[in-house]
Amino acid sequence: MNDPRRALPSIHVLLELDGVRTLAEQVPRQVVAEAVRAAVAAARERPADAPSTDAEWSADITARLAARERPTLQPVLNATGVVLHTNLGRAPLAAAAINAIADTARGFSSLEYDMGAGARGSRHVHCAALLCELTGAEDALVVNNCAAALVLALNTLADGRDAIVSRGELVEIGGSFRVPDIMAKSGARLVEVGTTNRTHAEDYRRAISAQTGALVRVHRSNFTLDGFVAAVSPRDLAAIADAAKVPLLHDFGSGLMLDLSPWGLAGEPTARDAVADGASLVVMSGDKLLGGPQAGIILGRAAHVDALRRNPLARALRVDKLTLAALHATLRLYREPARALREIPALAMLTASAEWVRQRAAAVQAALAVHGVPARVVSTAATVGGGAFPSSRIPSWAVALDEQPAVVDQRLRDGERPVVGRIADGALLLDLRAVAPDDDRALTDALAAAVAGGSMPRGAVARGASEDGQEAPNDR
Ligand SMILES: *Cc1c(COP(=O)(O)O)cnc(C)c1O
Repeated sequence: MNDPRRALPSIHVLLELDGVRTLAEQVPRQVVAEAVRAAVAAARERPADAPSTDAEWSADITARLAARERPTLQPVLNATGVVLHTNLGRAPLAAAAINAIADTARGFSSLEYDMGAGARGSRHVHCAALLCELTGAEDALVVNNCAAALVLALNTLADGRDAIVSRGELVEIGGSFRVPDIMAKSGARLVEVGTTNRTHAEDYRRAISAQTGALVRVHRSNFTLDGFVAAVSPRDLAAIADAAKVPLLHDFGSGLMLDLSPWGLAGEPTARDAVADGASLVVMSGDKLLGGPQAGIILGRAAHVDALRRNPLARALRVDKLTLAALHATLRLYREPARALREIPALAMLTASAEWVRQRAAAVQAALAVHGVPARVVSTAATVGGGAFPSSRIPSWAVALDEQPAVVDQRLRDGERPVVGRIADGALLLDLRAVAPDDDRALTDALAAAVAGGSMPRGAVARGASEDGQEAPNDR
């Protein structure tokens, strides 16, 4: 009988191999046993690829264990050209924010302790004064994220009542955020007005009744409407809301704090503009253009913010101390706008000159040439990401690799220091705009290793390979 499965060694024998026994000094034995079982199962499934010598079995099991032990949440180099990439964790933090997190994490803190009074205090005080100073709001509150801020605001203003919103703003923002679904979960009754492309002041006025809890305005984020369109400006909507004595909730999304029009990013209001436009409450994210940690920031009139703070839901949506520490440190940088642009990585990346990005790409290309890796430097169009400035394209530059782009792309993602790029026109593009300058060297090393083929652990190969052993198509 010629069945190769007969030849597979037993789990017990493999566990006793020298190279495998030493693994049990680093991780529990049952974890090693799991990797051994996976190696045997893979060999049974694809006998042609099965290891044959003891050394091959050891190497296979070691690679499988390494792949299993690697955290699923790991630092990644963002070479996609999308700066605030939601799937890659949005904004990288400023050094000041990272230091604040470390200081707060190390020991105890005054999170809910009033040091002056020597008594219980509130976590809600920590960023409020700075947010008011920077945006002109009367009061401010920070919760877990912008979706939470929207739920809390709607539930407080319009639970069991009408929330009036334009049909042109019932958008889906990324995977699991649909404005109508979030509104429904908050307990508010969604009242749609206008049409997809045009909504007028009269549409809102006609819909307002004794049942109205709030008027709602939502930034469309990832998409734009062009052509025969009409919308009511936030300022005009605030006037309608004031006249009817109903609150206006403005979900403004991006958290833009500085005018970036000198860098070609024009047409979106800053947080200060949104507050000045007169909404009762403005909600925004902390980790988009603000460049801080994940957070939902609520700005607005004192009576409304106070009502939100008293809502029992605020307890369920509250923000943790590390976030507050990072947000406070980030906000402080905005007192000096030039410093914010320099030290907040997302802003530095968005405002870096194209020429500087090109020079860095050229330096990576030159370093790759030393490793014998051919690459081109190509001009690209980077984007902001995070739903902000959806139609803006930022001139940028990438290193392009032409040989086996899908294979190298897979190896880069599986590597020691994973890199995410993108495949376009048959080449693998590594855009330098969202790569921190300090990481150019790491990017170069990862590219050289991936092209040489040394960075892919054996266990990881199977993930990207299809039945016949060919690379799976890159579907991003
Ligand atoms: C991104 C965005 C949200 C969701 O923000 P999270 O902080 O991810 O919860 C909500 N509204 C708008 C307009 C957005 O752009």
